Order: sequence, then C-alpha cells, then structure tokens
Amino acid sequence: MPFARRSAAALALALAIAPALAWGQPALDAELAATRETVRFVPDDALTRLRRIEAQARVAAPATRAEFLSLYSSAVRRTGDAKRALALADELVAYGRNERDNVALAKGLLTRTYALSELNELPAAHAAAFEAESIAQATADMPLRVQATITAGQSFQEQGNYPAALAKLQVATDLSRAVTDDAVPLASALNALALLYTDMRQYDKGWEVQRESVTVAKRMKSPGRLAIALSTEYGLAIEAKQYERARRALLEGLAVERRLGARQMIATTLVNLADSYLKDRDYGRAADYAQQAIKASQEINSPLNLATARINLGQAYLGMGRVAEGKRHFEAGLDEYEKNGNKPELQGVLLEYGTALERAGDFAGAVNAYHRERRISNEMFAEQRQKAVLELQQKYDTEKKQRQIEALRQDNRVKGAELDNRRLQQRIWWLLAVVFALASAVVGLLYRKVRHAYAQLEVKNLELKQQSALDPLTSLYNRRHFQEFMRGHAQVERRGGEDLVGALFLLDVDHFKHINDTYGHAAGDAVLKMIAERLRIALRETDMIVRWGGEEFLAFLPSVSRGGLDDVARRILSSISAATVPYQGATLQVNVSVGFAPYPLAPGGMPLSWERAVNLIDMALYLAKAHGRNRAYGVRGFANLGQTTLEAIEQDLESAWRKGFVDLTVVLGDTQETPPPAEDWSNVVAMPRGGR
Ligand code: GH3
Ligand code: MG
Ligand code: MG
Repeated sequence: MPFARRSAAALALALAIAPALAWGQPALDAELAATRETVRFVPDDALTRLRRIEAQARVAAPATRAEFLSLYSSAVRRTGDAKRALALADELVAYGRNERDNVALAKGLLTRTYALSELNELPAAHAAAFEAESIAQATADMPLRVQATITAGQSFQEQGNYPAALAKLQVATDLSRAVTDDAVPLASALNALALLYTDMRQYDKGWEVQRESVTVAKRMKSPGRLAIALSTEYGLAIEAKQYERARRALLEGLAVERRLGARQMIATTLVNLADSYLKDRDYGRAADYAQQAIKASQEINSPLNLATARINLGQAYLGMGRVAEGKRHFEAGLDEYEKNGNKPELQGVLLEYGTALERAGDFAGAVNAYHRERRISNEMFAEQRQKAVLELQQKYDTEKKQRQIEALRQDNRVKGAELDNRRLQQRIWWLLAVVFALASAVVGLLYRKVRHAYAQLEVKNLELKQQSALDPLTSLYNRRHFQEFMRGHAQVERRGGEDLVGALFLLDVDHFKHINDTYGHAAGDAVLKMIAERLRIALRETDMIVRWGGEEFLAFLPSVSRGGLDDVARRILSSISAATVPYQGATLQVNVSVGFAPYPLAPGGMPLSWERAVNLIDMALYLAKAHGRNRAYGVRGFANLGQTTLEAIEQDLESAWRKGFVDLTVVLGDTQETPPPAEDWSNVVAMPRGGR
C-alpha cells in the first residue's frame, strides 16, 4: 500500500521549517538556534534541551519567548502528544494577540496549524494557516513569511486546490531565494514544491525541483535535510513507478537517518521499505522491515505508524499464506485506523485487505472485508452528504445573517439619509424664512425710506413752491405770486353784502435811499423786514401782503367794510412809523407813503383790470409822496366821466382830482414833515413810471 501518500501531506506539514532567528538573550537564543533543526529530525533530544531552558525562556524577551513556544510545541507534537502541542500553540497565539506581536502571532498560528493537522482537524488547520500567512506578510521576518506561504500552499494542496497551492509554493520559492544568509527556507520551499508536483502527477517538473532540492540539502551539509529530500524522492519515484529508484532512496535515507539517530524518520522509512517490498511481492523482506517498523514505532510512541507497520506485516503474512497471523496483524492495524477516524485511509486499507484475503484463498474473509469497505464507503458518502448539507445550511445561515445585517445597515443608511434630508429641508426652510424676513425688513425699510423721502420731497416741493412764491428777505409773497393769484381770481368775489369791499394798498418807504446811504444796505434790509412784520400785525391773516419791488409793498384785502379803508390806511402809517429798528447803536425809524383804492374799481360801471387798478393807486401813492410823504391817498370814486377819459385820469391824477373827476381821500401820518419845496414836487411828478 502507498504509505508515501499518507506521509506526503502530513510529512510536508511536519517538515515545514521554523525560521532561524537569533537576536537578543544571547545564551537562550544560541540554544534555541541549535535546537531549531534538531527538533525536526531528533525531536526527543530537542525536547530534553528545550525543557532545560523552559523556565528562563518563558520569561525572556518576546522574540525569544515566541521562538521557544513554537519549537517546544513542535517537539511535543513530534514526540507524539499532539494535544499538548495544540495547547502550547494556543498559548503562543494568545501571547501574540495580547502583545500585538505579529511575529509571535504568526508563529503561534503556524504551530497551531501543524498540531491540528496532526489531530486530523483539517478545516481548522487550514483556517489557522491562512490567517498565519496574512499576518506574517505584515512582518519583516523573511524566513517566517516563507514558512507561512509554504504552509498556506500545503493547505490548498490538502484541499485539492492545486493551482492555488502551486501559486503559493512558487511565491515561497521566489521569496526564499532572496534569503541569502539562511538556506533552510529555500530547502523547505523546494521540498514542498517537489511533493506538490508528485501529488499533481507532474513528475518531470517534480524531478527537476527534486534535483535542486537534493543539491541544496547537500550544500547545507545537513544530514536531516538530506534525509527529508530522500524521503520526498522516494514518494516521487514510487508514484512515477520507478520502484528501483524508490527503494534506493529509502535505503539511502535510512542510512542517513540512522547516522542522525532520527528515530521518528527511521520508523516511517521502515514502514515505507516494507511497503516497497510488498509491491515486489518480496513478502519475506517486507515482513522483516515491517517487524523493524513495529519496534521503531513502539519506541517512539507513534500509534499510527505502528498501525501501518502491523498492516504491512499482516499483508506480508497473508502473502506468505500465514492467513491467521496475517489477519491478526491486519485487524490490529485496522482497529487503530478506525480509532483515528481516518476513513478514506481505512477504506483503502480494507480494499487491500480484501484483495490479500482473496489471494490467500480466504473468500469468506475477503467478502467480509469488502462488506466493511462498502459500509465505510457508505458512511463516508452519508457523512459527506450530511457535511455538504450542513455546510450548505451553515452557508445559508451565514448568508441570511449577512443579508439581515446588510438590510439593517441599508435601513440605517436610508433612515440616516432621510434624517439628513429632513434636516436639510428644515435648514432650507429656515434659510428661506430668514431670507424672506430679511427681504421683508429691507423692503419695509426701503419702503419707509421711500415714503420718508417722498414726504420730504413733498415738504421740499411745498417749500420750493412757497419759496418760489415768497420773497426771501421778508417772507412775504412776491410779485409773481400775486400776479398768478390775480390771474386765477380775475373776479374777486365781494363777500358779506354791499358794505364789504376788497381793497388794494400800495406802500413806498420814504427816503429809503437815505437809510442805505447812511447805515448801509444791511440796515436797509433790517428796515424792510420790520415793515413786513408791522404789516402782518396791522393787517388780517386773510389779507395778502406782497413785496412789490425794492422798498414797495402791496396789500390786497379781500374783504373790508367800505368805510373802514381810511382806518386801514391810518393803521398802516402809524404802525410803521411807531416802530424803531435798533442797528449798530443807532435807532432807525421810517415812514411810508400809501396809495389805495377799493377793488374792484368800476368807473362808469366798467370794472378795471387789477393792473389798471394798481396803476391808479400808484398814481395816488405818488401824489402822497409829492404832497409831503407819511400819508395815504385813497381813490374813493369817479364823477362826470363823460367829460374825460380814464386814460386822462391815469395820466394826471392830481388834475383830475382838482377838476372833480376823481374823489380822493387823504389820511395823514402821525408826525408830519414839512411839505417839500416846489422843485421837489415837480421832480416827483416827472419821475418815470415804466419800471413798475
Ligand atoms: P422817496 O421814495 O421818499 O422819494 O425816497 P427814496 O430814497 O425812497 O427814493 P427811491 O425810491 O429813489 O429809492 C429807493 C431806494 O431803495 C433805491 C434802492 O437802493 C433802495 N432799495 C431798493 N430795494 C432795496 C432793498 O431790497 N434793500 C435795500 N437796503 N435797499 C433797497
Ligand atoms: Mg421807491
Ligand atoms: Mg422810497
């Protein structure tokens, strides 16, 4: 039977190399370095040495401590205590995780992989291997990275995923070539690659790699490495059906192992030798090596190796026709296989058992063996199916859970987004409200400003209008305003019956030039302002007082009793002459002369225009001037108009008065000055009128 197949995977893991590290804790590290290779070939010795330094190594620096636990677990496993090896591996994993030490963690996970593999817990072993690889890649420890990559490749190989396995092992080989100060990583990678090609039945490639592997091992001058390479060569040769070469490799390897004292390797090699002679049907030699193998396996406390050895012995005995003895050993081996639970192996062995019994003539036994084989096969099938269903169920559950988690996450995302949206919307509304409020405030403000400006404009317009209607010095109406007013009120209504009339009074300051000449123009202005003030007091609010020209004023009284005109004239004269204007220490005092008439005037029933009426009272004013000033002359009425014309009256009022065509009234001011001399009189009368 091909025991090499059994050893291929298990051996591959068993032979994976811990990296050579030597830093800190010189003595301990030197001892660990010396143990590192020994543990592979002579684990008993290594275990003894490791136990000696256990106490110190467990409290040493992290790197030393990690390396110790890794080697210790390896030694314990190789000397037959896989469970203890697993516990030690887990201790190292926990230590690595606690210390956040990736080198320690990766080493722990690798150690765990080998222990689980030994315990035939393959899925867990593979999970640990892949985790170890990804953690190791994050470290700068090259030998560790190579080892982790090899182990990951071997895990793929055990899963039957050869392409992935090949990719990993090629990467591991390339990586290991970069490690120049240590040949162990390259030797390990090449050996693993040769084993993989064997499994893949790519023998040419396998031999190519195997040649380099042997060369490297010889160059290292390491009997252990050479033994490993020869063991691999045996497997390759036997699969390639090169039995001679296979046996040569085994015998050569056995010699090396014996020199080395590698008891575990010797036991395996002996089993393989027995197997190779069985293939040649050399039952005598096969039995001999099988017996040696049984002894060696018992010595190293390896029940599985022992079981295989007994099966080989049983097969040899059956071949020799010693059926009872053969069956006894075969059954003993099968028991151990059954105990170990390796059903595929058991199935293969049962088939061989049946064939061997058949050949030995024990047909009943053969049928029995075949039945057992069928049962195991069915069990395996049922288990596989159940496992597949379970895996499917687990996968489904996991996916369902993931979907639920994803749905929850999605839900949360949606809720989050909704919340965000609502917040955004609220913010937008707030902003809009603020913008609206601000805009309203601004608009309101602008509106108020506009209204204010408009009101101001109205005030200004009014002022402007008033100003354009008013005289700036005295604030009385100006001449233009009066003209406009009279144009709009051509027919000024007499109010309140027959006795009430309108009236026009025209005033001119007496000797005003004298004020200007003596005291200056400003003094003259002050006097003009005083006169305006006195007129306002003397007249009614409803009367219109106008600054007619420089020092001339016109008053229009819309409603006054016909008999009260003289009184108004007297009031004007006296109120002005009674007033004084203090100016720069002097006291100014002036009189005025006045001409007046009721308005409208209608000589012969024909009402005169306001212009002709004003012209007439202007004539009366000049009469007053000429007759001594400080007095008022009023036109009361006309008579005998048929004997003259209005134009003639207007031309010479005095003559018309003397001839009786005009009735004038004379009101004298309070203090009368002496009448002017005759020349003055004529001068006044001759004064040009066109300017008015
Ligand atoms: P009378 O009328 O009594 O014959 O003598 P008068 O001195 O008033 O003579 P006249 O009418 O010739 O002189 C008027 C003067 O009034 C001439 C001018 O300088 C002055 N006057 C006219 N307007 C103003 C004014 O607004 N302010 C001042 N200070 N003087 C003015
Ligand atoms: Mg004048
Ligand atoms: Mg004057």
